[in-house]
Formats: sequence, structure tokens, C-alpha cells
Amino acid sequence: MSLKLGLVGIGKIARDQHIPAIAADPRFSLVACASRNARVDGVANFADVATMLAEVSDLDAISICTPPQAHFDAALAALRAGKHVMLEKPPAATTREIALLQDEAARHGRTLFQTWHSRFAPAVSAARDWVRQATLTGGTIHWKEDVHQWHPGQQWLWDAGGLGVFDPGINALSILTEVLGAEAFVRQAVLEFPENQQAPIAARLDLRTEAGLVIDAEFDFRQKGEQVWDIELHGATGRLRLSRGGSALEIDGRLVVDRPAMEGEYAGLYARFAELCAAGRSEVDWRPFQLVADAFLIGERRTVAAHQV
Ligand code: NAP
Repeated sequence: MSLKLGLVGIGKIARDQHIPAIAADPRFSLVACASRNARVDGVANFADVATMLAEVSDLDAISICTPPQAHFDAALAALRAGKHVMLEKPPAATTREIALLQDEAARHGRTLFQTWHSRFAPAVSAARDWVRQATLTGGTIHWKEDVHQWHPGQQWLWDAGGLGVFDPGINALSILTEVLGAEAFVRQAVLEFPENQQAPIAARLDLRTEAGLVIDAEFDFRQKGEQVWDIELHGATGRLRLSRGGSALEIDGRLVVDRPAMEGEYAGLYARFAELCAAGRSEVDWRPFQLVADAFLIGERRTVAAHQV
């Protein structure tokens, strides 16, 4: 029997990735959507989560695709109604919110799957295997994209809690924390805020591990021309380059994985969600989100030219 699923927040990622991935997975059937302005054909549509939960009482699970500022209320209502919950990244608006949701899931015996889709990118597991046998000496992250190309009109990115350039940048941190095998922390940060916005358009992070490894990370939303989503890690005897958001991998200059961007990421997420629901387990890892929160805490703040969304 498939899990009856409700989808919340019908925007770009819901249409591009979630709806096709759910349709392709026989363990789920999409029966309802909750979105203030959008509708999905062939399912029951509601303007808000509370109404969906009240009207479709046999829902098993909900998957939340709204911006992070709207995650907590929706997830809390669903867990309290006894539903399993899958959350898009970034997980919430504050670190405490995600901790409270984890407690709530445990209290109700329901699954909370707090996702990091980039960890399911085609080259990430091979990168992790390489890192685990390497003695690392350093690394860099370059995550630079044109916000007008990838996030047109998304004002929520620029509002308080929207994370700005860290909305894509947290994907790099999710991969780093997955492959590293050591705990990273933010030693120093510089954040550039457009004079008319509440979130950074660019950031530089000096990341360290307890063992003294240094990883320099640069995030920039003003990139023109080639778009860059690269992580490079150097070892005593070789180097790794994970590019295109984790879909390509070079080891010592030799291309060993080369797949289309985002291939299989959402199929992998829904497969994991089905396994977690069946096993009665949750999966929550807010370390990437803590790194971003710490960058906001410790970061030097610079004001730069206004940005028009
Ligand atoms: P989007 O196109 O703006 O869609 C989000 C939808 O959420 C909106 O269309 C809106 O639908 C609903 N919503 C509910 N509360 C909202 C609020 N307070 N402010 C704005 N919208 C609200 O955004 P998206 O690109 O799909 O991204 C959504 C989440 O997915 C983000 O956390 C993002 O990081 C993540 N994500 C995005 C991508 C991508 O490529 N775009 C990739 C991976 C993950 P209604 O107005 O109908 O309620």
C-alpha cells in the first residue's frame, strides 16, 4: 500500500522535482496539495496546511516545499496530526525550530526527514569514499551563481530568514559535512548585504576542523557567465574536484563521474523517506544550518550596492 502524501508550497522545486519524483515512486500517491496561490491538477487543493489536514484525514505524510520561513508551523501542525514529514532545505528559519520539530516527531512516533538533496547528487558517495581514505591538507568551495537566472522574483530569499546566497550555498555545506568525516566550524566570515535587503548576496567563510584543516568557501549570487558549484579537497597524495553541484567528480584530474545536474537526487530523497517511514525512524542533521547560523553570528558585515529582485 502506498503512503498518501500531501505536498505543501507549490512553486519551482515542487513542480520541477517533487511532483515528478512522487509520480515515479509507487510507494507514494499524491492526494492533496496546500498552496496559497497554486493548484495541482488531479488532487485535492487547499489554501493552507491546517485545512488540508482537517479535510483529508487519511493522509499519511506531508512533504514541505515552501521557503524555510514557513516550515515550522506547517511541520508542527502535521506532526501533531500524526503525519510523517519531509522538509526541503534549508530546514527552518532558526536552529531551535528544527530541534523542536525533532522532539515533536519523537513524541508522536512519526518520521521527520530533514532533507539535503545535494547529498543525493550522483558523485557525492564516490567523493566520500575518496575522502575517507585520504589525509586531507586543505580545500576550497566556490559556489557562484546568477541569482537573476536561478531565482527570479523570489523576494523571500532576501527577507529576514531567507538566507540570501546561503540558500544555494548551504547545499555545498551539506555535501562538505557529509563527505568530510571530521567536524567543521566557522572561524571567520565576511558577509556582503545589499543596502536594500535583509540577506547576504555574497559571503566568504574560513572553515576549520579541530585537526586544523582549512577550507576557504566563497559564495556569490552575482556570478555572470560560467556558473560554478565546485568543492575541491586536497590530500597528501592527490586531489578531488566535485563540480556541478555534486554531479561530476575528478580525482587527480581524471573524470570519474559525469552525470546530468540533479540526476536522481529527488528519487533518492523519496526512496529514503519511504524507508524511514517504514522503519519508524527520523533523519535530522542540522550541521550545515549551524554553519550558516554561525556565519551570521560571527561574520563581519559589509554593505554593498542595492540588489533589485
Ligand atoms: P518558490 O518557487 O518561491 O516556491 C515556494 C512556494 O512556497 C511559493 O510558490 C509559495 O506558493 C509557497 N509559500 C508558502 N509560504 C511562503 C512564503 N512565506 N513566502 C514565499 N512563498 C511561500 O521557491 P522554490 O524555488 O520552489 O524553493 C522552495 C524551497 O525549496 C526553498 O527552501 C529552496 O531552498 C528549496 N529548493 C529550491 C530549489 C530550486 O532549484 N528552486 C532546489 C532545491 C531546493 P503559494 O504562494 O501558492 O503559497
